[in-house]
Amino acid sequence: MGAKRGLKARLVAGAQGPTPTTDDAEVVFGGLMAVIDRVRSRAPRPAAICGVGCGGPMLSGGGSVSPLNIPAWRGFPLRPRLMAELGMPVAVDNDAKALALGEGWRGAARGSGNYLAMVVSTGVGGGIVLDDRLLDGTDGNAGHIGHVVVEPDGRMCPCGGRGCLEAEVSGPAIEATTGRPAADAGPEVRRRTGTLVGRAVASVANLLDLELAVVAGSVALGYGPAFFDAAQEEIGLRARLEFSRTTRIVPAGLGADGPLVGAAAVGRRAMVDDPTTDRTVR
Ligand SMILES: [Zn+2]
Repeated sequence: MGAKRGLKARLVAGAQGPTPTTDDAEVVFGGLMAVIDRVRSRAPRPAAICGVGCGGPMLSGGGSVSPLNIPAWRGFPLRPRLMAELGMPVAVDNDAKALALGEGWRGAARGSGNYLAMVVSTGVGGGIVLDDRLLDGTDGNAGHIGHVVVEPDGRMCPCGGRGCLEAEVSGPAIEATTGRPAADAGPEVRRRTGTLVGRAVASVANLLDLELAVVAGSVALGYGPAFFDAAQEEIGLRARLEFSRTTRIVPAGLGADGPLVGAAAVGRRAMVDDPTTDRTVR
């Protein structure tokens, strides 16, 4: 992707591979390097920077990552390892924050400076852009909307809390509640999922004066209009302030390219948008 503001960006090469099923951190890293090598061999010219979107949580701008869906990586030094292997600047961020950047750059949040991007899939993650700037927080984990409480007496959450959005609407949560794969859910479950997501979005919109929420992920996109209509209805009920009642919720615009464009946007941010950030590589 192009890395300068205003430059027309396009996807020039891609590759994908399965995450190795192992508890050996180095085997997972080897799998990642194999994918990177394939992309580099297909790219027309060398990259200026490597941008990475990685599951959270993480510390120190990807200096230590512990993605919940990759148990082999606990405190894995992803950014320093990639810098050593690639010999180029590397920028790492949370994958949902990366999606937020990508959706603002090339997707459904283009033109908005105040929005939330979220994923409702195996887990529930999010990233927030406020005043044209991606929020980071103390350790870079801002935007974890999956752990906003939507049902005070709801299910236990893997985080240790109860009634978190993720504990109610993630794919595994829906399967545990209904006894069927999330994809097979009927209209009632689809609507409830939308309602609870809308409830969380309404709280965030009231708190931060957002105008838009863009939603990706197999659960949200798979449930389609039943999900989005129920979410919009709930936002209408719960976000009642003059500034928040106009908040809209829409499907993400990047589709299957979302994670890739998001990772590129992480690199772009480090190079262009935020020259003072810690993620800028020395
Ligand atoms: Zn939680």
